[in-house]
Amino acid sequence: MKDSIINLVRSNIKNLEPYQSARRIGGNGDIWLNANESPISSVFITNITSFNRYPECQPQDLIMSYANYVGLSKDEILVTRGADEGIELLIKAFCDPAKDSIICCPPTYDMYSVSARIANVQIKEIPTFKNTWGIDLKNIQDNLNQVKLIYICNPNNPTGNLISKQDIINLLKITSKSALIVIDEAYIEFSPKDSMVSFLKKFSNLIILRTLSKAFSLAGIRCGFTLANKNIINILNRVISPYPISTIVADIATQSLNKISIKNMKDRVLTLNLNRNWLVGKLKKISLVEKIFDSHANYILVKFHMSEKIFQHLWKKGIILRNQNHKIKDCLRISVGSHLECSHLIKEIKILSYA
Ligand SMILES: *Cc1c(COP(=O)(O)O)cnc(C)c1O
Repeated sequence: MKDSIINLVRSNIKNLEPYQSARRIGGNGDIWLNANESPISSVFITNITSFNRYPECQPQDLIMSYANYVGLSKDEILVTRGADEGIELLIKAFCDPAKDSIICCPPTYDMYSVSARIANVQIKEIPTFKNTWGIDLKNIQDNLNQVKLIYICNPNNPTGNLISKQDIINLLKITSKSALIVIDEAYIEFSPKDSMVSFLKKFSNLIILRTLSKAFSLAGIRCGFTLANKNIINILNRVISPYPISTIVADIATQSLNKISIKNMKDRVLTLNLNRNWLVGKLKKISLVEKIFDSHANYILVKFHMSEKIFQHLWKKGIILRNQNHKIKDCLRISVGSHLECSHLIKEIKILSYA
């Protein structure tokens, strides 16, 4: 592009760092433990054969299926192109550029701040407490000026911890008239009793994000959900694009929510939780491992002696992890893979620890 054209770019986009997704970072090999995807695929067949018509903006069969799954009514649900679109729509609908703010609590998922930056909405970072990773309610309360949205990831990515229910309830109360609390439950199927869904009736400022990308093992179709009271869902329906969910995605997503598929999802979750506990047990015995943070999701955050060296060694062996060193010193995030993948990982780390 010519320089003069570059100058047309909005100033907040000019130096924007794009989200560093696992796919963007890349890697080569057979063992992908870097994006918290399911290692086990679920297989779907679609019988749809014609595509000349636009899909429904909010495919009603899919909405009904998700409503049944979560025990809400259909006007409390928005279906989006992944949970990531939900994160962005909330900012579009509620935050005035160059005026309003969001709060996020690092270390956490980066898309909250990336989406805010793109929209030219300010970000107030209120770090969680070291090691327990609990939210700092007092500090949040002191910084609510001009804040419209507070993003809390539960279980948190990349640390794997749960945020205490009582803290979330206190946060909802503190902000009941001034801000919306967005609980990102991308991994909640791995710890279902900790969902905040049952609180939607009580708190009108509560919003919950969900996805089919993790426990449902459908990252490839890009489908997520925003759960909230119907007034908020109505607002979001004003800003969403006209046809965000393709016909095929709606069909496969609906199938993934039938009785048998949900049973399969729950079985996969049990298997992955067992694999996680096995992996933690093995890692504990390795001297290069300094600390393993308690996880309630399908990944674990591990602090290593020589984390860079381990990361690079595994990378060369085709075992791709997520390096978190820039956020949390000497830490790597490991997605829980199949049992075979976990065994390979342990074998390679052991070789290094004897070297
Ligand atoms: C993976 C992930 C998402 C993104 O979900 P998509 O539905 O694939 O867009 C959202 N939040 C967190 C915390 C995630 O880890």
